[in-house]
Amino acid sequence: MTEQKIKVELATTQKEKPAAKELQFGKVFTDHMFIADYSEDKGWFDHRVVPYEPLTLDPAAIIFHYGQTVFEGLKAYLGEDGTIRLFRPEQNMRRMNQSSTRLCMPQIDEEMALEALKQLLKVDKDWIPGEAGTSLYIRPFMIATEPYLGVAPSTKYRFMIILSPVGSYYKEGIHPVKILVENEYVRAVSGGTGTAKTAGNYAASLKAQEIADAKGYSQVLWLDGVEKKYIEEVGSMNVFFKINGEVVTPALNGSILEGITRKSIIEMLKYWGVPVIERRVSMEELKEAHATGDLEEAFGTGTAAVISPIGEFNWQDEKFIVNEGKTGELSKRLYDTLTGIQTGAVEDPFHWIVTID
Ligand SMILES: *Cc1c(COP(=O)(O)O)cnc(C)c1O
Repeated sequence: MTEQKIKVELATTQKEKPAAKELQFGKVFTDHMFIADYSEDKGWFDHRVVPYEPLTLDPAAIIFHYGQTVFEGLKAYLGEDGTIRLFRPEQNMRRMNQSSTRLCMPQIDEEMALEALKQLLKVDKDWIPGEAGTSLYIRPFMIATEPYLGVAPSTKYRFMIILSPVGSYYKEGIHPVKILVENEYVRAVSGGTGTAKTAGNYAASLKAQEIADAKGYSQVLWLDGVEKKYIEEVGSMNVFFKINGEVVTPALNGSILEGITRKSIIEMLKYWGVPVIERRVSMEELKEAHATGDLEEAFGTGTAAVISPIGEFNWQDEKFIVNEGKTGELSKRLYDTLTGIQTGAVEDPFHWIVTID
């Protein structure tokens, strides 16, 4: 899609923007969206920024029946200096292509997609909230649009980017969550689609989340799909443990989603000289580390929460409390540094930030 020009059609009316303190997650959308279409014969065509509106799709479109779709999630931050910043956006475009490969969907031109995002952000820049903790959530996604009830890859696709202003994940400051370890349902198995950001993984996760909610837990800890012994992820976040001074995170095993926050945390810990290792971690090991007092901290990582400290695990009706249910020192330092880099308050020695001018 490199040679293409992006057409811009501006909305004639503008929606009212919610006040920063009323912002939730993913409920309000901006005035514009980006669209590009694909067909096997033409490749990508008709790159355009247009007014945000519902889509018209054939009811037989493959997306509705067989779920051939991929998505991404990242954020734009408005700093106190008035600069708009993106955090490693090229990583999201690359991962989207990796997800697409798994789902037999076409590759996007990563540079073009980033350019499209920048153009869209310029048009809707007044929608980026600047209050502490707020941001503009960015959702690039692709759907299979060919009307066909056969189970086969579509020959037609649509790539889109939509934007949603979101409030602070931590309205009362960063605080630990309670986690229910899931022993029946699994999120993904090696050889499945766990490493791709594709809709079916999330549909499959809802039942366990519903059960956790009902028991008063905010997230599910997913175990491996074969033995249900090894730790994979927490909700839709990657997970880290600080055990006896060393930071441990489950190694990428073919069913874990490779988070960009995860990767950044590992790089940051190495830069700080904090020992960090990617390896298999079992629930038995975690229980043992808790019993001996070696389990110092636990936290989830992802774009939405950045760092989500874990204060309690419930595994087969046995509860263990981490760090007296309080946010750990390292979790807090990681949270402050990463959010500081994202908003421009802290220097970015890694060159992770892409600014929009
Ligand atoms: C998106 C996602 C993550 C976190 O990825 P980030 O790039 O850090 O936002 C982790 N696990 C799952 C299942 C995800 O969908």
